[in-house]
Amino acid sequence: MAGSASAGAGLPPVVAQVPTGDKVVFLTIDDGWYHDPAVQRKLIDERIPATLFLLPGATAYDTPYFTDLVGQGRVKVENHTVNHPDLTTLDAAGKDAEVCGAGEQLAATFGMKEPKLLRPPFGAYNDDVRLAAKACGVKALVTWTYDFTTWDTTPPTPRLKAGDIVLLHFTPTLGADLQRALDAARAAGLKPAALLPQLKTAGIVP
Ligand SMILES: [Zn+2]
Repeated sequence: MAGSASAGAGLPPVVAQVPTGDKVVFLTIDDGWYHDPAVQRKLIDERIPATLFLLPGATAYDTPYFTDLVGQGRVKVENHTVNHPDLTTLDAAGKDAEVCGAGEQLAATFGMKEPKLLRPPFGAYNDDVRLAAKACGVKALVTWTYDFTTWDTTPPTPRLKAGDIVLLHFTPTLGADLQRALDAARAAGLKPAALLPQLKTAGIVP
C-alpha cells in the first residue's frame, strides 16, 4: 500500500502516509529558498501546523523568516540534509556529513534538539541511508503521499485521505499551492495536524 510504514532490522521506518483514525493530514514544506512574507503571515496568523524540512543554507541568509515561524507559529523544523544530494549515491562519510551536519546546523540555528525526522532529498533512500540516518539520531524517514508543488504546471488536486502527507516547497507559488492543499483537506473533512506527535501516537517514532 502506498504510504505504509516499514521497519526492518532496527532501521528507522520510512513513512509516506501515517496510519491514523483521526481526520488529519500533514503539511510539509521543503528546502526554504523562497521567502514569501504572505505565506509566513498566513502560517502564523491561521496557526497552521506544518513540518518544515529545511536546508541550512536556505535559512542562513534570512534566518528570522524561519525563527519567527517557529517562535510564533505552529511549525516544526526537521532535517533535509545540508546540500540536497541523492543520499544513495554517497559513501558512509558523505551520508554522515549531510545528515548529521544538517541536524547540528538546524539545532544551532533554531535552539532546538537535533531533528528526529529526515526527508531524504528526491525521496531517495535505501538501507544504507536509513542506517546513516539512525546514527544521526533520526527516528523516521518521511517521504510524501502527494506533491502539491506547482513546478512547470499545477498538478491535479487529489482527493486527500486521513493520514496523507502533502509535499509543498518554499517556491514563489507556495501561497497558492498551500491554499490548494488547505482547500483539498477541507473538502475531505480533514484538518492539518502536527506530524511528529501523530507518528508517536501511531507507534512509528518512539
Ligand atoms: Zn528538497
